[in-house]
Amino acid sequence: MIKILRIEESLFSENEKIANEVSSILKERKILSFNIMGAPGSGKTTFIEKTIEMLKNDFRFGIIEGDVEGKYDSEKLEKFNIPIVQINTGGACHLEANMVKNGILNLPLENIDILIVENIGNLICPAEFPIGIEKNIVVSSITEGEDKVEKYPLMFKISHICILNKIDLLPYIDFNVKKFEDELKRLSPQINFIKLSSKTGENFNQWIEFLRKLMKEKRS
Ligand code: MG
Ligand code: ZN
Repeated sequence: MIKILRIEESLFSENEKIANEVSSILKERKILSFNIMGAPGSGKTTFIEKTIEMLKNDFRFGIIEGDVEGKYDSEKLEKFNIPIVQINTGGACHLEANMVKNGILNLPLENIDILIVENIGNLICPAEFPIGIEKNIVVSSITEGEDKVEKYPLMFKISHICILNKIDLLPYIDFNVKKFEDELKRLSPQINFIKLSSKTGENFNQWIEFLRKLMKEKRS
């Protein structure tokens, strides 16, 4: 079921306060949450789709989909029969904490183990607006080029996990994985780096195992 909310930007000064509220609501309920960021076309929705497909029998998911307009991505996830809130920002190119707060207040939190927020496709300002979500994930695909870490350092710096997506296309595209990884580790030594293909499923288990470990920590 998709609920659609239209919420516009608020004052920047309010953002951090509301982000803290979101964070305590989720912490109190022991919900593991992910903020999925990345450029348009990096494969964020397909990554989410594959994650739910592989774990839907083990955990209960809730989704907040952020888009400037429309509900295209929400409709792709509707088949899982999970609660989805679609947020339309009406122009803003990032999600803000007040939007996410409205989103979670419209979700049945008591029936959710893992909350996935898909941010607006953009490598710049989503990194500048904390939204109170526990783990930041940046999805970067090899079709975008190996220079993304160097060009958008803040995004990679604030992320806990970097997914290098679409590795099934490596035979067809000039992309130096080592160069990407070296730059990433230089900028953000603690980051968890996983290369995979959401389409073919190659290496996807590495991410699934990592997520299971996070869930175990959350519940212990
Ligand atoms: Mg998407
Ligand atoms: Zn923006």
